[in-house]
Amino acid sequence: MSRIETLAVHAGREDFAELGVHAPPIDLSTTYPVRDLDEGTASFDALVGGAASAGNSIYARLHNPTVDRVEKAIARLEGTEACVGYGSGMAALTAMLMDARSRGGHVLVVRPLYGTSDHLLASGLCGIEAEFVDAGEIALRKRADTALVIIETPANPTLDLVDIRAVVAAAGHVPVLVDSTFATPVLQNPAELGAAYVMHSATKFLGGHGDVIAGVVCCSEERAKPLRVVRAATGALMHPLGAYLLHRGLATLALRVERAQANAEDIARRLAAHPAVAKVFYPGLGTTRNAHLVGEQMRGPGALMAFEMAEGYGAAAAVMAHVGLITPAVSLGSVDSLIQHPSGLTHRVVSEAAKTATGITPGLLRLSVGIEAVDDIWADLDQAMRRAGMSQVA
Ligand SMILES: *Cc1c(COP(=O)(O)O)cnc(C)c1O
Repeated sequence: MSRIETLAVHAGREDFAELGVHAPPIDLSTTYPVRDLDEGTASFDALVGGAASAGNSIYARLHNPTVDRVEKAIARLEGTEACVGYGSGMAALTAMLMDARSRGGHVLVVRPLYGTSDHLLASGLCGIEAEFVDAGEIALRKRADTALVIIETPANPTLDLVDIRAVVAAAGHVPVLVDSTFATPVLQNPAELGAAYVMHSATKFLGGHGDVIAGVVCCSEERAKPLRVVRAATGALMHPLGAYLLHRGLATLALRVERAQANAEDIARRLAAHPAVAKVFYPGLGTTRNAHLVGEQMRGPGALMAFEMAEGYGAAAAVMAHVGLITPAVSLGSVDSLIQHPSGLTHRVVSEAAKTATGITPGLLRLSVGIEAVDDIWADLDQAMRRAGMSQVA
């Protein structure tokens, strides 16, 4: 039972026959009775020290069975020993940075990144020193106190790909964190390529229905322990109801990603031929950095793309105003198509210099293609661009 389509449906459900259930139980307890004090203290010590589970869960900030279940499922999908769940993708990254701080505090980062990740790193909020470098400079910029290398591939919002194997080789003994949110475990497994940590904003494709905010870090059991310690100490928990919905969403992950990707390949081709569009950034068209990694590190080009409106900001804003079926909103990886303006919204917190250097221009739109009928998505996009053209002329 190792194929992703099967794992997505069955992982984290191995004990159902024994429990006599057909859907994951939801445990909303905040606290758990301790009748055997010796067992209670031993469990407390184990959980505070970062153990995945113990005889008694003690308190929900230390352990929750429903969260534990979806963590096990996602670890199976990524092929890692462990997975640690958080209340959001940003809480997951924060825990990673607090851990990095305790191991040295210097972090090498390759741009572009999700806007808030960039902001968290650049702001120094977590007490780490982030140095932004090109992927090719990592070996050169590594220091004795470098605790982590962070990359995002495909990167948000330009869809640039980063060669994970090359970065891992350059990082040497320094662990590499790959934000693999855009790829999902269906299209890419960074741990197989040597990444020590695989992060997902589970809010996106893993949940898949736009109703859960959650984050995960997948890694070895040894690396997971300090991440659980940070989670327990800071309270950055995934809620069990969110964990349940996330687990429910996982069942259709492979189907959703395949369908959304097939739609995206079609939409990207049509956009590239549209007179209102100056350029489409999509790995499947070969128009992003390292697009040759599709078919190697990535099993497919994914369901996200960005495109530059020939008439700039005004045209991009008009498309946002005129889409109907497609929701003009931030976020991505939902069953429905979403379009947004990186420069004005998700990447607003990124410095102007970094925006310019990474191609986040005023005319750029990012499209997360959903699983609707592709002709309906296209018809909506086409009418929005037509009306954008008219409102430009008027
Ligand atoms: C959304 C996102 C995040 C942040 O996740 P939240 O769940 O919104 O906190 C981090 N990285 C990427 C690539 C994202 O798309």
